[in-house]
Amino acid sequence: MELHELTAHEASDLLSRGEITSVELTRAVLARIEQVDGAIKAYLSLLAEEALAQASAADEKRRQKGDGLSPLLGVPIAIKDLICVSGAPTTCGSRILENFYSPYEAAVIEKLRAAGLVITGKTNTDEFAMGSSTENSGYFTTHNPWDLERVPGGSSGGSAAAVAASMVPLALGSDTGGSVRQPAALCGIVGVKPSYGRVSRYGLVAYASSLDQIGTFGRDVTDAAMLLTVIAGYDRRDSTSVDAHVPDYTAAFRPDLRGLRVGVPAEYWAEGVQSEVEDAVRAAIDQLADLGADVREVSLPHTDYALPTYYLLAPAECSANLARYDGIRYGLSTPEAPDIWEVYRQTRERGFGPEVKRRIMLGTFALSTGYYDAYYLKAQKVRTLIKQDFDRAFEDVDVIVGPTSPTTAFRIGEKVDDPLQMYLSDIYTLSCNLAGLCGLSQPCGYADGLPIGLQIQGPAFEEEKILRVAYAYEQATDWHKRRPTIAGDA
Ligand code: GLN
Repeated sequence: MELHELTAHEASDLLSRGEITSVELTRAVLARIEQVDGAIKAYLSLLAEEALAQASAADEKRRQKGDGLSPLLGVPIAIKDLICVSGAPTTCGSRILENFYSPYEAAVIEKLRAAGLVITGKTNTDEFAMGSSTENSGYFTTHNPWDLERVPGGSSGGSAAAVAASMVPLALGSDTGGSVRQPAALCGIVGVKPSYGRVSRYGLVAYASSLDQIGTFGRDVTDAAMLLTVIAGYDRRDSTSVDAHVPDYTAAFRPDLRGLRVGVPAEYWAEGVQSEVEDAVRAAIDQLADLGADVREVSLPHTDYALPTYYLLAPAECSANLARYDGIRYGLSTPEAPDIWEVYRQTRERGFGPEVKRRIMLGTFALSTGYYDAYYLKAQKVRTLIKQDFDRAFEDVDVIVGPTSPTTAFRIGEKVDDPLQMYLSDIYTLSCNLAGLCGLSQPCGYADGLPIGLQIQGPAFEEEKILRVAYAYEQATDWHKRRPTIAGDA
């Protein structure tokens, strides 16, 4: 096996036994990026020199054999370009931040640095995380490693594709309505969206603040769980961060699921779910029962309202959050404009892409006098009903399972002219964010060579449960071991 193919926990074992160094591993990963990223286009910016310097610092730290070394010391990672890394470009996939270098570090980056992970670069995203395919990136579209003509999902498509193509073992993304889980599903890897408040949002550029959460990617459950253990925890700089104990998320892993109740929502098999996806997910649910889980049907009656609710609330919040890009303080500006209003207007006209403009208009409309009660306020009330559905379901079951995405990866260009079709890609993932829950996606099959994702959702702050289910399923199956063959691979 080549070094770039190692999972993070495999690399961690070899590093701790002194069989490889972080510099060797980082070189291998950078060479892999060089080999395949021309075809995949996962990275917006590479931080090769900085990465090698961090790798040799990690090797030095291991040589000194200090106490309390993180198991991920010296392991490479990629960062979605919506997360601030001090001194590095942070474009958010937007032309409006083309030349913006973050002057400060996100809380999660501080944690990665304290643990000694090696930051390889910033990955592509739909502009300000608005999208499901990376086609809304202001720079370029990332290609799915399983089929270069298809999208990797989004918005964290660059991170998911980089991990799936073995360019890096770990990555961070953000998930406002599915942007970690859906690309994980479409790329055949594991993606975890933690509960709202579990991971600090300090330094995550805001899209919809009441829904945004940073999540982890890995090629198996152990990797995604180990990374979550590093980044989770209270931070006073994020006012919605919750001061709750952070367990070692791998500690709860068991080979079986005895005593665990798994709920399957009747509403999750609506029209529009691809038949191969339904078959694979139903087979996975049977497998959970074989592992000892008590599988029951549950009902989430307001499921149909998740999409309209999300597409009122997320744009409303984004229209406020994106007001700061006015050509005065950050990034792009149009100083030739004759007055301040023209600076604002021309900067935003030139800097934002069409989807961002659509969302700002939708959100401004939903918040405007005369429409606020009918749209924004109503959506907030429905959000409560959606949350209550889950509260009730979780009285009967420990976790809820179903498909992550209704389809496998779609073709580049297929949905760009039909925003509603694009929005429907997140139909199964949106309610988790609206309700503040945790959720993950893991591979559970393939259709025509394209990965299918199983979604596991759990109550807020019960990441251990969903990870435990995912781990047991993974132990019993081989889906996570398949890797795509990319141009140039032997
Ligand atoms: N695709 C959804 C949207 O466009 C979710 C994006 C996300 O989770 N960041 O808003």
